[in-house]
This record gives sequence, structure tokens and C-alpha cells, in this order.
Amino acid sequence: MTDLSSVVPFVTVLVGLLGLAIGSFLNVVVHRVPAGMSVVAPASACPGCGHEIRRRDNVPVVSWLVLRARCRDCSAPISARYPLVEAATGLLFVSVAMCSVLAPWSPWADLDGGRAVIHGVLLLVALLYLMAISVSLTLIDLDTHTLPNRIVLPAYIVLPGLLLAASAVSGDWGAALRGLVGLVVLGVVYLALALAVPGGMGLGDVKLAVVLGFVLAYLGWGPLAVGSFGAFLLGGTFAIVLLVLGRAGRRSGIPFGPWMLAGAWLGIAVGVPAWNLYLGVLGLA
Ligand SMILES: [Zn+2]
Repeated sequence: MTDLSSVVPFVTVLVGLLGLAIGSFLNVVVHRVPAGMSVVAPASACPGCGHEIRRRDNVPVVSWLVLRARCRDCSAPISARYPLVEAATGLLFVSVAMCSVLAPWSPWADLDGGRAVIHGVLLLVALLYLMAISVSLTLIDLDTHTLPNRIVLPAYIVLPGLLLAASAVSGDWGAALRGLVGLVVLGVVYLALALAVPGGMGLGDVKLAVVLGFVLAYLGWGPLAVGSFGAFLLGGTFAIVLLVLGRAGRRSGIPFGPWMLAGAWLGIAVGVPAWNLYLGVLGLA
């Protein structure tokens, strides 16, 4: 086993800082992508006075605290959502890094030497990318009830690209094959649901399901099972609670994307032990 203990604190801080910076960028993505705007230009400006935001006022979380939630030029209030998204992305990135070392599918435990490191880093980058799009898609789906192609479709290249490269390094092509099965299974199930219940599931959900199916099954059958059932369990429970509280009618549209993503991360984090426990209860394991 590669001894990681000496680099863990360093990598944790690095991944956390990366998460803060990515979170800052995701605020821009969430605001601009649904409006069809570029995410790189123009530079961010205060919606109140139009002043371009200075570099020193663009430090994640810190600037918002230093400025006491107000624009330096016109004192217009700055929403707490921005530093919250930055801090949450930082914490989620650290959690993903810990998960990628501790989960049963982690490559760090089995392989030795340089290959394990390259394999582990490719997997970590893939999962951090998935977390970044999970945060932005969740916020956009809650805001606008859409899952934009501009975020979902690049994932069709990036995630299989990174995970197939990881398979090439490790020689574990079984994971890639499993990923293909997961992709087809979740794609077919969500397409059938979208066709069967018009106005329920959208095509955006189907496109997201395809890529989640690949990643979950790549990591194992447990993550695929728990990740996909988890979405319906979490989303269904939430819908029932809203109905009981009278906060939603039978017909009010509740976006499903956030639940698909939450379920997927549940599958990634605890899918293997949860699935083994379930099979044990059924007497199948
Ligand atoms: Zn201003």
C-alpha cells in the first residue's frame, strides 16, 4: 500500500482551496449559463453600480466578509449565497478527496507505486469535476427547472475520458465495461420514465442519468444500485413531505436533477457497504 499519510494534510488544504476557487467560478456559471451568457467575459461587475469587481474583492468568502456583504463602490448588498456556495464547494471538494481515499472502490489501497498514484489522481479529478457540475446543476435546476446542455454534454467527454484513462493505467477494463452497462440501464430507465409520465421527468434528466449511470457503475454495482434508488428515495420522501405540509400540490413541478445528484453521491460514498448489507439481509451475499 502506498503510504499517503505524509501528504494528506497538504492535499486536503490544496483541494479545499481549489474548491473555494471553483465555487467562486460556479457562482458565475449558475448566474450566466441559464441566461446564455459567456462564463469568461465580461469580468464580474456589481449589478447595482456596474463597477467591475476588483481582484482583491474577488477572494472567495474572505472578500464578502471584509466588505461586510456590501459593494465597495455603491454599498449595494451582496447576497450571502455567493460565499455560501464557495464555502460549500470547498467542503464538498475535501469530502470527495477523503471519499476517494477511504471508499472501498479507492485505488489507493490495492495498487502500489506510481501507477496507483496516477490512477488515484485521474479518479479524483473525475470526481471533483462531477462535484463541480453537481453543485452548478443543482442550483440551476432549483432556480430555472433546467439542466443546461452546456454543462451536461461536456461531461460526456470529460468523465468517460478521465475514467477510461484510469482504466488504461490500472488495466481494469471491467470497470469501463460495467460503466457502459450502467450508462445504458439508467439511460433506458429514465427515457422510459420521461415518455411514460409527460411533464414529470425531462430530457435534461435523461441526459444527466446517462452520464451518472456510467460513473456509478464504473465504481461498482453497489454505487449504481444505491445511487439510482437513492435518487427516488430522497426525491420521493421530499415530495411526500411537501405534500403533507401542503407546500406543494400534486402537480407542482419539483426539479428532480438535485435528487439524482444527491442520490448519486450517496451511491459513490456508501454504495458498496450499503449494497452488501442489503444483499446480506436478503441472504444473497
Ligand atoms: Zn456597486
